Amino acid sequence: MSLLATVAEEAVSGRTTVENFIDFAYLISAIGFIMSLKWLSHPSTARKGVKAGEIGMLLAIIGTLMKHEIVEYRWIAIALVIGAAGGVPLALLMKMTAVPQRTAFSHALGALAAGLVGTAEFYLHGDTLSKVALTAIGFEVVLGYLTFTGSLMAFGKLQGFITGKPILYPGQNFVNLGIFGASVAIAGYLVVNPTAAHLFPWLIALTLVFGVFLIIPIGGADMPTVIALLNGYAGLSASAMGFALDNKLLIIAGALDGTSGLILSIIMCKAMNRSFTNVLFGGFGAVAQSKSGAVEERSVRSISPEETAQMLENSDSVIIIPGYGMAVSQAQHKVRELYDALSKRGVDVRFAIHPVAGRMPGHMNVLLAEADIPYDRLIDMDEINSEFPQTDVALVIGANDVVNPSARTDKTSPIYGMPILNADAAQTVMVVKRGMSAGFAGVENDLFFMDKTMMLFGDAKGYIADVVKELSGVHAGH
Ligand code: NDP
Repeated sequence: MSLLATVAEEAVSGRTTVENFIDFAYLISAIGFIMSLKWLSHPSTARKGVKAGEIGMLLAIIGTLMKHEIVEYRWIAIALVIGAAGGVPLALLMKMTAVPQRTAFSHALGALAAGLVGTAEFYLHGDTLSKVALTAIGFEVVLGYLTFTGSLMAFGKLQGFITGKPILYPGQNFVNLGIFGASVAIAGYLVVNPTAAHLFPWLIALTLVFGVFLIIPIGGADMPTVIALLNGYAGLSASAMGFALDNKLLIIAGALDGTSGLILSIIMCKAMNRSFTNVLFGGFGAVAQSKSGAVEERSVRSISPEETAQMLENSDSVIIIPGYGMAVSQAQHKVRELYDALSKRGVDVRFAIHPVAGRMPGHMNVLLAEADIPYDRLIDMDEINSEFPQTDVALVIGANDVVNPSARTDKTSPIYGMPILNADAAQTVMVVKRGMSAGFAGVENDLFFMDKTMMLFGDAKGYIADVVKELSGVHAGH
């Protein structure tokens, strides 16, 4: 098409080629985000999901950089360099087990960005904006700043910078509601009277304080759930920002982020048998102390890697139950070798996946996928629980709470009511762990003291490596 024809067409439609391109890029980007979430929900498609999300984000950035509102690129380039200088090492060097606090930290920054954009928008155009746009800015600023300090607190609790114990005082919920109510009232007043800009710093200060107060009564044990919730808030804040800036992609991406964060926190609450309000207001979630004194008095049976290898290869079916300890020792590749060695001998090996094994949702799926364990061997809790009685060996690798039978019976247990994997129903139970320490909830585990249970003491990676060595030795000897 000639240049003249293009110009004529643009004049008739009132849109430029660049604007059309931006719309197209945003459309593909939105599809990318939606497909990303869809694919991320299953291990076999998760990698594809990550790629779709990355492509969506790249197109979103390219489209946005082409917007005519951008008058110069210098500050954008500086921000990009600073962001990449911080983000790339964070992604490459951060340990898998520290992902929950890393996630909290990046939410804090995302939410701060949303809050700052809302602030800039209010000061630059507040007096000319519609009531709808001002309401959106109110949402954006309140959710953005409270998520900023809330996420920093969550980061500090998980990283151990601040106490993981709930900090409680009388009338706490009223104080919190009071601060939140005051900030919402100021936001509402500013929608009606945007010229009262002197109140805006109060709005910011109150929401920043509220973010801190919201998190201090919540114990470290509930932090990952709270992080998922804060993720939801940050997403909703970004969505409100989309309304304020009239950016459709931000509305879509923020809404997806917001709702998936909320859904995830509800799923996590269910998997831990915690009520949502209990997590938010209860002041529960303190990591309980291990009753180690009582543990030492009871005896357990322990066996060597050699005996373990013999028992495993003489069985027909094995269900491996991975837990947080497998993540700590990075044993997943050795576990894969064990899977290969046993499968070669005709043993049916499957993996039982508990929804909150490890320290973040999908933790075990990610590790086992990294070790290329076939996806059809990873079976969810609900599906595999009825299989344990027909199984020769339940091999627990660094899991504890997720196989603790007290969750079924002991009403005083902090994990009472949490659905668990029925490892205790298998013919024989083997547990790889370093000693008799309690798991995340800090409670003793009767599974370890059962007659059919054998303790395999050692670091998960080292112990499984020894078993694999034994198996190859036995194999070579045949
Ligand atoms: P647990 O934390 O209950 O137990 C892990 C066990 O691994 C410990 O008993 C520890 O015993 C052992 N261990 C630690 N390091 C090693 C190692 N190097 N080698 C071998 N064993 C090791 O883990 P689970 O996965 O069973 O349960 C997860 C817990 O985390 C649940 O209570 C869940 O509610 C909670 N949680 C999970 C979240 C999620 O999203 N997944 C989020 C928030 C909480 P020892 O020291 O003796 O070796």
